[in-house]
Amino acid sequence: MARLAVYSSHPARLRSLFAEFMHAHHHHLDHVHHGHGDSCSASKPAPKQLRALKIALVLVTCFSGAELWVSAHSNSLSLLADAGHMATDVFAIALALWAASQVDRDDSERRNALAALVNGGVLLLLSSWLSWEAITALLSPPTDILSLPVAITAAVGLGVNGLNAYLLHAHADENLNLRAAFLHMLADAGSCLGVLIGALLIAQFGWYWADGVVSGAIALLIATTALPLVRQSWASLNQLSTMPE
Ligand SMILES: [Zn+2]
Repeated sequence: MARLAVYSSHPARLRSLFAEFMHAHHHHLDHVHHGHGDSCSASKPAPKQLRALKIALVLVTCFSGAELWVSAHSNSLSLLADAGHMATDVFAIALALWAASQVDRDDSERRNALAALVNGGVLLLLSSWLSWEAITALLSPPTDILSLPVAITAAVGLGVNGLNAYLLHAHADENLNLRAAFLHMLADAGSCLGVLIGALLIAQFGWYWADGVVSGAIALLIATTALPLVRQSWASLNQLSTMPE
């Protein structure tokens, strides 16, 4: 029950904070993407936003840590995949905080683009490793997966992500940043739904291969978010290096 305590003490607010972070994060990227100008000073986050980022960092760290713990005790690769994704969300928030601390520097745009490139690179590495593990799991499905703790964890994650995606949906048309945050929440909810379905198939039919299938799907999902991030930040870095100072 300890794991449930961790989740229940993790309020829906976490995801709203995270959405705020995604907003800030993408805002930086947009600035990098569209070149510089006087408007750059506007990208400096307010103290309130910084505080939200720090709280989000702590909460998401706890969330992914709990997920990791459950995945290790249930031998579920799909839950480990989701925990890995959450860990990269932690990494992204930490990078956003770092980028915010660098915003007064002359080369802050370059640093932001570099941070985004590193983030995308880490996501690609995670995706590759998970794909490999998923194939291994599919070739010889492990039969020691404890489906109940996996299902409970995934259901909690689905509830929190789904609620936040729903809340963000109303604002998804307002601007690109909110839309990006909404899509991210939707993808996170989709991952949890996949893990939940896999756990139910194992519990009901003993289909242990479902865990490998879901893990592969999450690996693909991570790759589809990583590739545009790498491409955009790479383009921004090239653009910045050809621009006169
Ligand atoms: Zn995420």
